[in-house]
Amino acid sequence: MSAPVLEVEDLKKHFGLKKKLFLRETQAIKAVDGVSFSIGPGETLCLVGESGCGKSTVGRLILRLIEPTSGTVKLDGEDMTAVATSDLRPFRRKVQMIFQDPYASLNPRLNAGTIVAEPLENYGELSRSQREARVEALFGKVGLRPDAMRKFPFEFSGGQRQRLGIARALALSPSLIVADEPVSALDVSVQAQVLNLLMDLQEEMGLAYLFISHDLGVVEHIGHRIAVMYLGRIVEIAGKEELFREPRHPYTRALIAAAPVPDPRAKRERIVLEGDVPSPVNPPSGCTFHTRCPFAFARCRVETPVLTQRASGHWASCHLEEG
Ligand code: SF4
Repeated sequence: MSAPVLEVEDLKKHFGLKKKLFLRETQAIKAVDGVSFSIGPGETLCLVGESGCGKSTVGRLILRLIEPTSGTVKLDGEDMTAVATSDLRPFRRKVQMIFQDPYASLNPRLNAGTIVAEPLENYGELSRSQREARVEALFGKVGLRPDAMRKFPFEFSGGQRQRLGIARALALSPSLIVADEPVSALDVSVQAQVLNLLMDLQEEMGLAYLFISHDLGVVEHIGHRIAVMYLGRIVEIAGKEELFREPRHPYTRALIAAAPVPDPRAKRERIVLEGDVPSPVNPPSGCTFHTRCPFAFARCRVETPVLTQRASGHWASCHLEEG
């Protein structure tokens, strides 16, 4: 088995809240609270969960856009968290990001060719003519015509803008791409095209993806393995087929039950999630899901379940699984 591209170990991000009058201690929001996983070359790990579960914060921590409270992030075996911010350049070229809203991430004053050439210029390794050839090749790779290089971001459709964002992310030949809800702002018909493009590029270039999404339909299409997050923690992680065939955590089962199915006659277990995700400032005791879990029993309120392997490659944190 080849060495993982990304290894995340016990990653935490706690945001301090200002100390309130009469409060002895500063409160903390545990946005990410002990997350561990790895991704191999050419693999897609999807992080799913409702909004506010901490999945986007994990993506930002991996890119060191924000500093972790503790834990490690290793890229190709090297610990990014141990490196000073000023020495991050070699890491930054290995891991790139694709954003939810490509329009907001593209400079509206630059034409598309310049946008894609920018990272190459910043790293200054190619001559001007080599850069131009590389940009043209990247446009071809993502299915944009060469004449699109002269256009400005506002002249593209949503799907084309996301293709442009992908071309820019590929410019430095990264080994890992963090894609944060990359298709959720697109029409359904365009979503499939962009997902298929990402899958083709992965096959061609051996890219690893951390794919962050709230949409199980999208995840089912693109993922190899799926990690389900709830209130800053991974509650279940498994291969895609196994997770959809035999989800072991009640939260995963509820998410799958709530996802639309193409065949309305297909039967799915009915687990309805009541209420919203509780506040991470003051999370519920024991299993943080117990306030919404239809199967909660006394032990769930006092004891936090540990993420444990229940079958080969299938981990879940639920007391029910312990029998
Ligand atoms: Fe539900 Fe208890 Fe399992 Fe948590 S540990 S998911 S509350 S049954």
